[in-house]
Amino acid sequence: MTDCIFCKIAEGKIPADIVYQDDQVVAFRDLNPQAPLHLLVIPRQHFATVADMSQTDMALVGHMHWVGLELARQAGVVEDGFRTVINCNADGGQSVYHLHLHVLGGRQMTWPPG
Ligand code: 5GP
Repeated sequence: MTDCIFCKIAEGKIPADIVYQDDQVVAFRDLNPQAPLHLLVIPRQHFATVADMSQTDMALVGHMHWVGLELARQAGVVEDGFRTVINCNADGGQSVYHLHLHVLGGRQMTWPPG
């Protein structure tokens, strides 16, 4: 999508601190980290929200979680714990309308989320 900032990151058209990429997903550090580890895992294919995906697309969401888990493991936060989040639409707190999985770790998380 032409005006999507995360599509541009996936295409290498604007810079990001990329920590992993393959043919399906790109993972990079959040510009405004909310925890010592704060990564975003995005699909290369543009979906505005998770609600725009079909059941058959859900394998991609599984891959995003697998990549997030491996990156959390590499960062050494799995034993103490970490959090993955997908925000959806306005009430969900989504601000960038290209599907992304937040991977947060390195501090005590709280519940309920804000
Ligand atoms: P959302 O609120 O949509 O779930 O999360 C969007 C996230 O993208 C936010 O945590 C925000 O800091 C991050 N973000 C927004 N623009 C950029 C950008 O240009 N580069 C990077 N690396 N992160 C961004």
